[in-house]
Amino acid sequence: MTATPPPDVEGFLRLLAAEPTLLPPAPADGIGDATRRRTQDEIHSCLRCGRRAQEAFIAGTRLGPRWLDLCAACGHWLRTSAP
Ligand SMILES: [Zn+2]
Repeated sequence: MTATPPPDVEGFLRLLAAEPTLLPPAPADGIGDATRRRTQDEIHSCLRCGRRAQEAFIAGTRLGPRWLDLCAACGHWLRTSAP
């Protein structure tokens, strides 16, 4: 992560849309299994705060599907604040 994520969800999602290379590529199918593997068997950092990620979202970007790893708090923040 080269830039500090903006504090609001809209700005955060705008940043990801503008710079999808911040996110690792995700598979186009088998998402359920891949998500389980990513959240249970692998260790990733929350993109927003850097703590250990506990949730994995798929972001549709112009470069294809990408992983968005978030900790529980930031996942809650995204779900409850997304426009
Ligand atoms: Zn977080």
